Amino acid sequence: MCGIFGYIGSRRDATSAVFEGLKRLDYRGYDSWGVAVLQNKKILLDKHTGTVNKKLSKLPKSSISVGHTRWATHGSVTDTNAHPHFSSDGSFVLAQNGIMENYSSVKQNLFQKNYKFISQTDTEVIVRLIEEELKKEKDIIKATRSAFNKLKGRNTVIILTKDGQIIAVRNGSPLVLGFSKDKKEFYFSSDTLSFSPYVEKTITLDNGQMAIYSKNMLTIKNVKTGKNLPLLKVKNGITQKNEGKGKFNHFMIKEIFDQPSAIEEVIKQDKRKLEKLSKLIKKSKNVYCMGSGTAGAAAFQMAYYLRTYAGVNAIGLIGAECTEYLPLFSKEDLIIAPSQSGETADVLEILEMAKKKGVKVASYVNMPGSLITKISDISFMANAGAEICVMSTKVFISQIAFGYLVAKNTQEKYDQGVINLKILAKEMRKVLNNKDFLSQIKKIAKKLSKKKHIFLLGKGQNLQIIKEGMVKIIEGSYVHAHAIPAGDLKHYAITLMEAGVPIIPVVSNDAVSGDVENAINEIKARGAEIIKLPKLPDTGEVSAILNTVPLQLIAYYMAVYLKNNVDKPRNIAKSVTVK
Ligand code: GLU
Repeated sequence: MCGIFGYIGSRRDATSAVFEGLKRLDYRGYDSWGVAVLQNKKILLDKHTGTVNKKLSKLPKSSISVGHTRWATHGSVTDTNAHPHFSSDGSFVLAQNGIMENYSSVKQNLFQKNYKFISQTDTEVIVRLIEEELKKEKDIIKATRSAFNKLKGRNTVIILTKDGQIIAVRNGSPLVLGFSKDKKEFYFSSDTLSFSPYVEKTITLDNGQMAIYSKNMLTIKNVKTGKNLPLLKVKNGITQKNEGKGKFNHFMIKEIFDQPSAIEEVIKQDKRKLEKLSKLIKKSKNVYCMGSGTAGAAAFQMAYYLRTYAGVNAIGLIGAECTEYLPLFSKEDLIIAPSQSGETADVLEILEMAKKKGVKVASYVNMPGSLITKISDISFMANAGAEICVMSTKVFISQIAFGYLVAKNTQEKYDQGVINLKILAKEMRKVLNNKDFLSQIKKIAKKLSKKKHIFLLGKGQNLQIIKEGMVKIIEGSYVHAHAIPAGDLKHYAITLMEAGVPIIPVVSNDAVSGDVENAINEIKARGAEIIKLPKLPDTGEVSAILNTVPLQLIAYYMAVYLKNNVDKPRNIAKSVTVK
C-alpha cells in the first residue's frame, strides 16, 4: 500500500506539487505522511501522523521534491516512522512502498557495522544498506542498484539526493512516470490517478526497472544489468482520471450511483476477446477464479455463474489462502483474476508462481497499466472509471456482471446475457433514483447503527452477495457482521438467534427461495428480528447483482450515521500491495 510521489519542474512549486499529489494518493494509505525538498544543496523534511491535511508551513518552495503517504507494516504510526527517511549523513532521503522481507537479518548485519537506526521501519534498513553499498560503489545509482538486488519481497523506493537527483526503483509495488507535453516537468507516482490534471504522457515501469532524473535528464535502466532502456521504446500508458465527487457528499455514494454505467461498460467488452476466453474456459481442465477481499467475493460469484450457466466446474479461491493449490496447478488450467488495482500482492504472487507452471491467466482489472494486466494471457479492463472510496462498490458490481456475461457467452447465450445486463442497468438506475427506496434504507441503517452484531442470510446466487454485504458493513461501520449460508443456519448460528438480534435476509425469486423462507421462519420462531429490505424488481438471473445495492447503501448510511470516515475507513487501504 502506501503512496509515493515525486516532482521536478520549473512550472510549479515542487513542494506543493508533491503535497497535492499525496492528497490524491492518500487513499492508498493514510496513517502518516511526509515531504522532502531540496534547498541550497540541503534536504529539508516535514513528517506528520494522520492524513495529508496539515499545511506545509515548515517547507520552502522548491523545484524538486519527493513525498510519501504511509500504511504502516513495520513500526507504529509515529512522525519518526513516517517516510521519507534520512541517510546518516543527510545526503539523501528514501521512501518505500512494500515490505523488505529480509530486513531483520540485514539489520542485524548493519548493527554489527555500527549503523544507527532512528525508526522502527524496514525502510530505514534499505537506507543504511545503500549507505553500506556506497562505501564500495561511490555512486548513488550503483549503490541503490546493488542494495536493491539484496532486498527480498515486493518493494518500490524513491530517493531524493542533495545533488538534485531522484531515483525510483520498482519491484512489485507500482511505479508510474508522468511528463508534461514539453517534457519540462517530470512526475513519479504510485498511480496515474494522482497525476491528473497536469500530466499528458505516462510510462508504467516494469519490475526490475529504475528511473533516474539527473542533470535535466530522465533515464530508465534495468536494475540488474544497469543497461539503459531507450525512453522512446517505452509505450505511452493509459491514465485514469479522478473526476471528483460531483453532487455527492462522499465518493462511496457517488460510486454506488455510477454502478448502472459500470454495467453498461461490461456490455461493451470486446466480443472477440470474450470468445477467446470462453474457448479457453471450455478447454481448460480446471478453472479457478481468484481474488482478495471484495474481489475475492467477486471471484467466488464468477465461479458460481460459470458453474450455473456454463456447466464448468469452476472453483473460487482467495488470493492469500490458496497456496495448497500451487502443486496442483498445471498447464491445462486457467485462473481468472478480478482485481480493482491489478497490484494486489497476494494474488500477484500466486499468479506469478502459477504462470511458471504454465497456467493460463485471464484478468479483469480496473486500473490501467497494472502488473496483473501485464502478466495475463488475456486481459480485460473494467473501464468502471476511477474508484476512489477505499471500499469497493462499482468495481465489485462490474466484476460480477462480467463474470455473468462470460458464463453466458460460454453457454453460447451471449445475446441473452447482454439483454439481462441491459435490464439490470436500467432497473438499478431506477432503484437508485427512487426516494422512497432510499428513505427505507436510511431507516434500516439508522436502526442497525445501534446494534453490536448484524447477521445476513442468503443462499445460492446470493451467498457471495451477503458475504460482500458483510464486508461492506464491517468496513464502513466497524460493527460486527456475519454472513450465514441459509442452509447452514441450523448447524451453528441458530444458537445466536434471540430477541433483539437483527438478521437481513437476501432472497431472489429462484429455486432456493423456499429454503431461505424456512430459515427465516426458524429465526422468527426464536424471537430474532428479521430486517426486511425494500422490494426490488425481479431481474431473474442477475437479481443477485441488484441485491448488492441495498447492502452497499446500508453500509454507506451506517458509516455516515456513525460519523466514520466513509471514504477512508480506519486501518485499511485501497490497493493492497503488501502481503
Ligand atoms: N514497510 C514500510 C513501513 O511500514 C512501508 C509500508 C507500505 O508500503 O505499506 O513503513
